Amino acid sequence: MFEKILIANRGEIALRILRACRELGIRTVAVHSTADAEAMHVRLADESVCIGPPAPRLSYLNMVALLSAADITGAEAIHPGVGFLSENADFAAMVADHGLTFIGPSPEHLRIMGDKVTAKHAVKELGIPTVPGSDGAITSEDEALKLAREIGYPVLIKAAAGGGGKGMKVAYSDAELKAMLPLARSEAKAFFNNDAVFLEKFLLKPRHIELQILGDGKGGVIHLGERDCSMQRRHQKLLEEAPSPALNAAAREEIGKIAVGAMRKFGYESAGTLEFLYEEGKFYFIEMNTRLQVEHPVTEYITGIDLVREQIRIAAGGSLSLTQKDVKFNGHAIEVRINAEHPETFAPSPGRVEPYHVPGGPGVRVDSALYSGYRVPSHYDSLVAKLIVHGRTRNECLMRLRRALQEYVIGGIETTIPLHQRILAEADFINGDYDIHWLERFMAADSGAS
Ligand code: ADP
Repeated sequence: MFEKILIANRGEIALRILRACRELGIRTVAVHSTADAEAMHVRLADESVCIGPPAPRLSYLNMVALLSAADITGAEAIHPGVGFLSENADFAAMVADHGLTFIGPSPEHLRIMGDKVTAKHAVKELGIPTVPGSDGAITSEDEALKLAREIGYPVLIKAAAGGGGKGMKVAYSDAELKAMLPLARSEAKAFFNNDAVFLEKFLLKPRHIELQILGDGKGGVIHLGERDCSMQRRHQKLLEEAPSPALNAAAREEIGKIAVGAMRKFGYESAGTLEFLYEEGKFYFIEMNTRLQVEHPVTEYITGIDLVREQIRIAAGGSLSLTQKDVKFNGHAIEVRINAEHPETFAPSPGRVEPYHVPGGPGVRVDSALYSGYRVPSHYDSLVAKLIVHGRTRNECLMRLRRALQEYVIGGIETTIPLHQRILAEADFINGDYDIHWLERFMAADSGAS
């Protein structure tokens, strides 16, 4: 086992990793930008190193600074967390070249799954169903038009290197497709430095259902059930739950078997998530995230398995400690993402947090790096807290979530708490009857009414 791990991240996810390390008796090195000198992950770590100014490209994305920090502190492994360099194959390779361990999959697997076109191709070969669409990147307008007529409008133009819900455009006709194709290309180039785009059928009422995978790279692969992440805004997740209200045990078992078989063939190592759209009883793969997910706590709640601990154990050369039969699902869990944003306009709301009071009681978990007097910087992602509840039933979860949201006090900044409270009062949500477009419709109806 490792003696010291460098955590190449910030905020709640850095704390989450730090907690897993501490339980395993592993010493931790925090890194931080000058904007984060007072951050909780720095305060709680055994050691910390300043790696640069606030701009992420100069600090949290600065590979040389991160490797130097690992070198001077004698860390043996680097956990990249979520976002930043967590899916960067070049970084993973650099870490290995320096004789350190990257806590995650191999650079080769990061590379394949990091590009949506090669990822779709790879999983299709492995027997996983994908969304109907182009086989590779689109090379001409004619090709796009021909394909769109074949799969039927509306179609979605997607950036091969896209992420974070960005780089997607819907076209409802030939004319729209012609107009949007060059636009989508130039945006993809500007955002992701890669102008490759591809086409997919735009599904009208799917749910986003993803499967948590754990592999040890030695043939051991299990799945830890699904998460339903259909509550989204601008293709970004806002609330996640497990199990999905839309799946039954047979459907879960079927997709689980296909996914585990495929990942075993692939030889996948570490935690990973296969993301699907689910419509009319059918699964369609959209992408794989080769890292820990923001919403991993709901899976931890219903399975009792610490995903970060498993990642660390596997990276240290361990085999999976569980078989599929050992994975037991217990009750229901829901996570809400609390962002430092205005709950209606979603405008960022950085600033000093005061007062601060965290909810507690049965079945409540809060993953957050906030504290009273902390100043939320404006340079980073707006996610400041995750409130996760567990109950024996979905209904118990809803009661608990309402109660915990009421208790949560985050003064001084705007947050998405009021939005979650409104969603929780909606019959569709209470009944588990919502798809990926539900929230956009809800917000549009609301602004139309006022
Ligand atoms: P990103 O990497 O940016 O997160 P994804 O491919 O994971 O992109 O898609 C993000 C979200 O966009 C999905 O959860 C879903 O809401 C929407 N989306 C993606 N593909 C489609 C599709 N073919 N039809 C309808 N919605 C889609």
